[in-house]
Amino acid sequence: MATHHRVIILGSGPAGSTAAIYAARAELEPVVFEGIQPGGQLTITTEVENYPGFVNGITGPELMDICKEQAERFGAKYIMDEAIEADLSQAPFKLTMNEGEYTCDALIIATGATARWLNIPSEAKYKGHGVSACATCDGFFFKDKEIAVVGGGDSAIEEATFLTKFATKVTIIHRRDELRASKIMQEKARNNPKIEFAYSYVIDEILGEDDPPHVTSVRLKSTKDGSTKEIPMDGIFMGIGHTPNSSIFEGQLEMNKDGYIITLGKSTKTNVPGIFAAGDVQDFTYKQAISAAGSGCMAALDAERYLEEI
Ligand code: NAP
Repeated sequence: MATHHRVIILGSGPAGSTAAIYAARAELEPVVFEGIQPGGQLTITTEVENYPGFVNGITGPELMDICKEQAERFGAKYIMDEAIEADLSQAPFKLTMNEGEYTCDALIIATGATARWLNIPSEAKYKGHGVSACATCDGFFFKDKEIAVVGGGDSAIEEATFLTKFATKVTIIHRRDELRASKIMQEKARNNPKIEFAYSYVIDEILGEDDPPHVTSVRLKSTKDGSTKEIPMDGIFMGIGHTPNSSIFEGQLEMNKDGYIITLGKSTKTNVPGIFAAGDVQDFTYKQAISAAGSGCMAALDAERYLEEI
């Protein structure tokens, strides 16, 4: 027998928790399924300096703990589980979690996004043995070592800057000769004596030894002339963006070619009435904690209005 709630929120990052605060204050008694990474991607970042209200910055995990506490103060209930299947063909919507079946009248999807990988065999081989996508999780293991970060966006620069705390040298490998990152982040990296740039290169292969498995070098391939070169390296961090966590809704909700859930106009409404999407699972433009929080607020208000009308 499925447990029924008026509003279920999937995800507990800035979007999910803000939706929970608003839905709880509207007395909708929302239930938040925290997902595989409670608190979302902010919990694996370091200092958050651009979230309004915190003059001196705040750490990602701290910020997410505060948001959760704030939602719980108004009666939101957090459950540590994730949705593994969804039947959105009719209301009430059916969700299968690892533990139990649930139904709801309104669903807010705030499942966020997950770090992207290069998907080359040597990357998989050395994952956890010198290859990582989380600088804050694994940076410590590379004290006094040489590290490469792949990517040219804000994530790559942020990771590289953070990793200079441990590494002797961090090389940013970027496939073009121009970074995508914001000017202020670029400036920060250029002024850091430990950061070097390998422009117009992609990783051709990660090389290492098997017993115990560890990375020893990386073979780079020029995107300009196809030439290759091998450079010694102890660790490789991926900073090449993210993929929206929307796969369980495939074929049931309208999505763009990259899997981002499409929302209608300026709302958080999906193509299915009663289902709303907020945060990185639907935002391929801004992808900021504050914009995710804003859309979480919108989703709760949209859900509240929907429930008043049915
Ligand atoms: P992003 O802006 O999409 O950048 C991804 C980078 O990885 C791009 O430079 C891209 O190259 C490269 N890339 C993608 N696929 C690749 C592949 N297969 N091989 C090699 N390179 C590849 O992603 P992001 O850096 O994660 O940032 C996402 C959003 O979060 C942005 O809006 C950013 O501003 C925001 N963010 C902000 C902060 C902050 O303000 N502190 C920190 C982190 C992220 P191309 O440039 O050639 O496409």
